[in-house]
Amino acid sequence: MTPDDPDRQSADDAATGDLFSKFDALIAERQALLDTGVRDPFGIVMDEVLSPTLAMIKGKETILLGTYNYMGMTFDPDVVAAGKQALDDFGSGTTGSRVLNGTYQGHKECEEALKAFYGTEYAMVFSTGYQANLGLMSTIAGKEDYIILDADSHASIYDGCALGNAQIVRFRHNSVEDLDKRLGRLPATGGRLVVLEGVYSMLGDIAPLKEMVAVAKKHGAMIAVDEAHGMGFFGPNGRGVFEEAGVEADVDFVIGTFSKSVGTVGGFIVSNHPKFEVLRLVCRPYVFTASLPPSVVATAATSIRKLMHAGDKRAHLWKNSKRLHKGLRDLGFNIATPEAQSAIIAILLPDQAQTVAMWQALIEQGVYVNMARPPATPAGMFLLRCSLCADHSDTQVDQILERFKAAGRAVGAIG
Ligand code: PMP
Repeated sequence: MTPDDPDRQSADDAATGDLFSKFDALIAERQALLDTGVRDPFGIVMDEVLSPTLAMIKGKETILLGTYNYMGMTFDPDVVAAGKQALDDFGSGTTGSRVLNGTYQGHKECEEALKAFYGTEYAMVFSTGYQANLGLMSTIAGKEDYIILDADSHASIYDGCALGNAQIVRFRHNSVEDLDKRLGRLPATGGRLVVLEGVYSMLGDIAPLKEMVAVAKKHGAMIAVDEAHGMGFFGPNGRGVFEEAGVEADVDFVIGTFSKSVGTVGGFIVSNHPKFEVLRLVCRPYVFTASLPPSVVATAATSIRKLMHAGDKRAHLWKNSKRLHKGLRDLGFNIATPEAQSAIIAILLPDQAQTVAMWQALIEQGVYVNMARPPATPAGMFLLRCSLCADHSDTQVDQILERFKAAGRAVGAIG
């Protein structure tokens, strides 16, 4: 066998039972893409980060238009100072689970900040948002229960369902009618949890939460809303789409993350359910993992408290999102939503070749966006996802539009 004989290689793999052989098609596809001379869209390295909206990538100053730093909190001086202080006072890590040695005063303070932000009785901090969803889905619904979820739900919701024993029912993305129909077909026995997201991150569309919550209530279901992409800038207090929709009183659990508007890492669930605290004892993704480092919970708590008074930032983020959406549409790009529904603007492209070419042209121009492709996207779509930051200046939005125009023309994506 020679190393450059791929057919022979995979035959040998199969014969020897190499468990990696199942990835051969993916490895070959990736190699074929890189052989065309493009940069790896999934291998970008930020050599230096200058601000929430600027980084140095391969020696080029690049506008960041593909982060979830919606509120630009990562360089907030109070947030950074809180992290440094906690590092000095409490050290670099807890080395333990929340239920053993891993709950410091900072974790409690972070939960207090969340309770104040959401106006809820209870808050539970997890090590990531992924684990918060994993924990809720796998713990709250048992063998006799049903989880009813949107078909386009985030991977962490699906994975939480896979980890648990509940029966899973999917409804068509954002279809109130299909949710109603599927709830109506369930047997009378067994608990029901309807899982929704405020903003769906692939296309940047929002859920019709008012109608969906009404339908879920009509069928006696509990309701969980993932506000990963809504926290910080939807609703008068920035709580999320569920606040803006006026359904706070009917939502049983809100799941969120610190890795987007809050600007660090971590996850949480907030609730008013009187028995909520029992989850700390039974939720495996909470119990069987180390808690967040003290510096992280200190930055999160400071950021969350500042986000309670971030009306100006919210307004500027909306202005940026609307300007970019209109500007891209006017240039002739095909956008997933008819107007800006969130800070995510997703551009639809016909195939992988053009998507990669456009992505590459943009990075050469000094704009970083996310590329998304199946299976991460719904209905086999190829997307360039732009996500705005409250700290993008008006001039930066102008520059972004100029660069999209040049890149789009260079690769034939627009006329
Ligand atoms: N829920 C949704 C809707 C998300 O988009 C994400 C992350 N992209 C998560 C949960 C997980 O968040 P984290 O990064 O904190 O694991």
